[in-house]
Amino acid sequence: MNIVLFGKPGAGKGTQAPKIADALGVPTLATGNVLRAAVKEGTPLGREAKAYMDRGDLVPDSVILGIVRDELAKPDYANGVVLDGVVRTVPQAEGLAAMLKSLGRKVDAVVSLEVPDEEIVRRMSVRTVCSSCQTPYSNLSPGDRCPNCGGVVMRRSDDEPVAVRNRLKVFNAQTAPVFDWYKRNGARLAVVDANGSVADVTQRVLHALGR
Ligand code: AMP
Repeated sequence: MNIVLFGKPGAGKGTQAPKIADALGVPTLATGNVLRAAVKEGTPLGREAKAYMDRGDLVPDSVILGIVRDELAKPDYANGVVLDGVVRTVPQAEGLAAMLKSLGRKVDAVVSLEVPDEEIVRRMSVRTVCSSCQTPYSNLSPGDRCPNCGGVVMRRSDDEPVAVRNRLKVFNAQTAPVFDWYKRNGARLAVVDANGSVADVTQRVLHALGR
């Protein structure tokens, strides 16, 4: 199954993606994680992406589609993928559709995780992330050790209020139309209430996917 997880920054995509992927027996692909790792390593991709990310702007579609093309060509993704943080623009939706079609595949479902803006702002103000495995946390402080891999937990620079406001604006302007694009193109859509416990939300998503 090829699933697109859709939702505002802070809706819980990074928390839910691995759980849904485990249940479906497929890997996740999170473009934000790929980009953050590239920034940390100081690769050409990371140097190109950093300024966009710090401002809360979108990295150009050509860069994102390049990442997705390289990743989906790997055998790990042959049985499907849970996409987290991509698709964020209509050109990305078109590019992904063409890419999957050339592999004899398609987006099987688009799951929109929905939470009110006040809750998003609250979540981002306490969110930390492991600098190594990128697991997001709401209950750990910068400098703590990641229970998952032992890496150091930190704040994301784009979770600060100015960047958060810009990311919400960018979502409304550039990403929200993607859901309508999928609607127009006949994709299976699921809108899931993403308030509540992590386990409850995972169950709602799996139920929406018929699992
Ligand atoms: P995320 O971890 O998904 O919140 O992504 C963090 C940042 O990486 C975003 O604010 C963008 O700057 C960049 N990014 C990640 N995925 C994409 C994408 N599909 N399109 C454009 N920019 C992206």
